[in-house]
Amino acid sequence: MLLSIPTLMLVATFIFALMGVLTLHAWRHGVRECTLGYLGLMLLLAALGAILLSLRGMGLDFIALVLGNIVLLLSAAFNWTAMRVFGGRPAHVPGIVAGALLWIAWSTTPGFFDELTQRVMLYSLMVGGYSALTVFELWRNRKRMEVSYLPALLLTLMHTSFYGVRAFYDPGISLEHAISGAGTTATFFAFMLFESMLYAIGIAYVTLAMVRERTELKLKAAAFSDPLTGIGNRRAFLAHGAQLLADCTRRGEPVALLLCDLDHFKRLNDNYGHQTGDQALIAFSRVTSQCIRRGDVFGRIGGEEFACLLANTDESEALRVAQRICSHFHALPLLEPGLLSVSIGIVGSSGGHDLARLLSMADSALYRAKDEGRNRVELYGEGGLMPQ
Ligand code: GH3
Ligand code: MG
Ligand code: MG
Repeated sequence: MLLSIPTLMLVATFIFALMGVLTLHAWRHGVRECTLGYLGLMLLLAALGAILLSLRGMGLDFIALVLGNIVLLLSAAFNWTAMRVFGGRPAHVPGIVAGALLWIAWSTTPGFFDELTQRVMLYSLMVGGYSALTVFELWRNRKRMEVSYLPALLLTLMHTSFYGVRAFYDPGISLEHAISGAGTTATFFAFMLFESMLYAIGIAYVTLAMVRERTELKLKAAAFSDPLTGIGNRRAFLAHGAQLLADCTRRGEPVALLLCDLDHFKRLNDNYGHQTGDQALIAFSRVTSQCIRRGDVFGRIGGEEFACLLANTDESEALRVAQRICSHFHALPLLEPGLLSVSIGIVGSSGGHDLARLLSMADSALYRAKDEGRNRVELYGEGGLMPQ
């Protein structure tokens, strides 16, 4: 198969430019994720670099070999930067310009324009180096990114290996061979153009997918959390609580539900202001989070109502936890000691109940706690207990 290098160069230039414009458009008009900005820049620089390189042989060797390669090295550096900022790290300016500066320094040495093989080797090592750094960023930030990073990592690993091989096996291609497309070096060059196009398309696609996945995760997290206290909201409590209930039922473990309602909260708001009320809500979330375990589900299910589903916990243990919450909250020195209090209704289950039913049973226990004078814990179907 005869591959025309000038045609491939033209196609590659258009593909890089188109992908670059589309990526920048996604950055400007969608989520303002810097990663897409850097990626768009990388693709546009690749297009510009390809244009400058094709000026070789038109009496513009300086532009083609010095400027063209500088632009391509900057393009590789922005690919690294895109993955670096996606992993939550800032752009590393000295690292970005290092490749370009090294190329400028080398272009001033005698023999630069004659040493084709050495030029190919140095350029390939630098592009491979930036690509290896990109792999490194994806790997070291894999947990922090919270998205499926593997396609981007594998793609970039292949890109790195390609330039590693090229550095030692490609002697470079003369202008005549490039134009005629004859000889094995021409085949290598054609394959490199193919590889660049595939990598550009692949990395743009997987990066867009990663950015989108993370945006969805952020939206989901926002939809499940209470902005004031930072704990789960009613939606989160119902979803995670139902899951915990099903897991405990399957394992044959008991669960207990605590329904908490802050006492005379309207009075607190009226007497001390809404902001103080908010502080009390935050303080209650903190106290309760400290009294429960990691596997338990805790959420703010209403204005001053909270619920905790305690995993693998029987009623007597649930009583102890509830009393601890009650007494710790009552002891908080907000404005004056003893101002804050909470009533808690508890229900235990050893399986067979759904969350809605447990909430309604805990609610009747909570009603009793309010009736009995507040600042106390009541067990569904039994007598009440004061905090100790
Ligand atoms: P009880 O002891 O019977 O539970 O009385 P209460 O005053 O706590 O109950 P009530 O239902 O009458 O009042 C609840 C109050 O909680 C009314 C509402 O203004 C307040 N509230 C709800 N959400 C918030 C919030 O986000 N911040 C503040 N500061 N107050 C809130
Ligand atoms: Mg209430
Ligand atoms: Mg209340």
